[in-house]
Amino acid sequence: MDQTEDLANLLARFAHTLGSDFSIQKILDHLVAEIAEVLGVTGAGVMLMGEHNELHFAAASNETILEIETLQNELTEGPCLEAYRSGLAVLVPDLGADERFPNFSRRATEVGLAAVFTFPMSLNGSRLGALDLYKDEKGELGAENVRWAQVLADVAAAYIQNARRRSESAITVDQLRQRSLHDPLTGLPNRALLKERLEQAVARSQRSHQVVAVLFVDVDRFKSVNDSFGHHIGDQLLMAVGSRLLGVLRAGDTLARLSGDEFVILCEGLARPELAEHVAERALSALSPPFDVDGRSLQITVSVGLAFCGPGEDMPETLLRDADFAMYQAKQAGGARHHVVDKSSRRAMDRRGRLSSELQGAVGRDEFTLVYQPLVTLPGGQIAAVEALLRWQHPTRGWVMPEEILSIAEPSGLILTLGEWVLYRACRDLRHWQERYGTAIPQVTVNVSPYQVMAAGFDTTVSRVLESTGTDPKGVCLEVTESAFLEDGPRAYSVLERIKDLGVSLSLDDFGTGYSSLNYLRQFPFDIIKIDQDFVSDLGAEPSARTIVAAIVDLAHGLDLTVVAEGVETEEQLHNVVELGTDLAQGFYLCHPLLVDQIDRRMLEPALGGTVTLPLPSAPRGAPVG
Ligand code: C2E
Ligand code: CA
Ligand code: CA
Repeated sequence: MDQTEDLANLLARFAHTLGSDFSIQKILDHLVAEIAEVLGVTGAGVMLMGEHNELHFAAASNETILEIETLQNELTEGPCLEAYRSGLAVLVPDLGADERFPNFSRRATEVGLAAVFTFPMSLNGSRLGALDLYKDEKGELGAENVRWAQVLADVAAAYIQNARRRSESAITVDQLRQRSLHDPLTGLPNRALLKERLEQAVARSQRSHQVVAVLFVDVDRFKSVNDSFGHHIGDQLLMAVGSRLLGVLRAGDTLARLSGDEFVILCEGLARPELAEHVAERALSALSPPFDVDGRSLQITVSVGLAFCGPGEDMPETLLRDADFAMYQAKQAGGARHHVVDKSSRRAMDRRGRLSSELQGAVGRDEFTLVYQPLVTLPGGQIAAVEALLRWQHPTRGWVMPEEILSIAEPSGLILTLGEWVLYRACRDLRHWQERYGTAIPQVTVNVSPYQVMAAGFDTTVSRVLESTGTDPKGVCLEVTESAFLEDGPRAYSVLERIKDLGVSLSLDDFGTGYSSLNYLRQFPFDIIKIDQDFVSDLGAEPSARTIVAAIVDLAHGLDLTVVAEGVETEEQLHNVVELGTDLAQGFYLCHPLLVDQIDRRMLEPALGGTVTLPLPSAPRGAPVG
């Protein structure tokens, strides 16, 4: 258990490094140092091979091991090369007695090493290198360590493949076009290519009736970075900013660099202009952790200006100009924020203003309701719980979705009343199901906002609601996101402990979207983790997502947690998550969120109070493909 926790931490820190702007070399240096410690070996090393089997990168937890790593390449023999070539782990528990690599063994023994264990790093059949562990005493590594070493080698391989692909994708086939349409420093589209894409996007939006948004991103006080540290550092910082911004794009979006510290994000196919603000917020938070540039830690903020264009509106040039102007307004207001150009901002503000004045009375007018989406067991398809999702049935605007409700209710503090109503209603609905249908729906899960968790007396609110509705706490699970811990971790921790003491389960929502989620798993008393939809949708396309999710599932199971895959939308995704061993799944492919009476009529009545099983397609594993 202890070691599992250490490994959870290690993966967390590792994931953190990889989310930032470190080079492959830094990633490797970091990895080997940590691995050596967690697996309790004398040292660890990594060799990455280039395209022509030449040594490309080497990293080691100390100088001696670095020497031994590179030495193998000179000798053209050694266990690491062997693992790389064969794709199999090579275990040498006693270098003195081993005859396979005589030259290597002799040199390694001379520098005081006694055993070496090496694990291939490969992904989808492509070989990348090897991870090597050294000990200064002979003896086996142990089965558990062997297993973990291979998991770490796999995860590292996945990340490295990703990092390589990222840098390779900057080198496009058409070098010339690349040069005339791309910014030489970052490789991003330049103004000319942006204009081309913008025109196409605006033309498409006329047909699709969707919104195009332009986000103008400008680094606050960038000049002072150049002035204090020189252009060399400034350039590296800009590259790093570009690569973080790439991470917030949705598929099909364009990131361009116009000049200096000006970047532009072009988003198309948006159903509502407000969605672009999420992109802006994501950009702001992606850029807020310090950058590591040449060993310097640099912290920056940016100002983001947004402009939109719906069908029949605006021309591309005005769009860019409007976004630039909005960015200027964001700077005027002190920077480190986004600002929407006034035209649509006025419209959005109007809606927001009206909604917030109406929200106040909506609880009393009984305009809120909950819909429920089942979480089903895998591979059986049996309902294990239902998640309560908030809806506002507005008398004139139709359904208002939770994100918009929360964006008003959280800052105004109304979330506390509303959140209590949600919990109360969910408990009441659970009781309705229990009274009518027995244990067909064993549990309701209820989302709670960080504002609720941090508010005074949250645990007493929960216990009051449980009591007044006569609810068995085992039937309730609260879903929190890791943002709940960002402000005051220890406080969140103690609140959640008290909630758990009530007998309520806790679920970590949107797992994998934040910083060091794995740390929270270790420190906080969760029962369930929900792997975010982004990971689930990447599973088919992105080999690295698969490896990472597999490692997460392993670790979570090691910590006795139930793993839920969220947002399963296709049969393929379902098969993927079944294969990876997640315990539960949830998503449109299985069932959309439904009103209580829809659940009653469609699921519970036909089942006559027995357990409810959703029909899952039988997994075609083992069946011939193609
Ligand atoms: P969440 O907790 O991650 O909930 C899942 C969201 O994903 C729901 O959106 C659900 O309708 C949607 N979803 C489910 N399956 C799929 C799928 O296969 N594909 C896709 N694309 N989406 C899927 P919804 O209802 O709009 O809720 C959005 C978010 O609002 C929730 O995300 C949750 O964070 C928050 N929320 C909802 N209800 C409440 C509430 O009562 N209180 C609080 N504090 N937050 C709530
Ligand atoms: Ca949730
Ligand atoms: Ca979620």
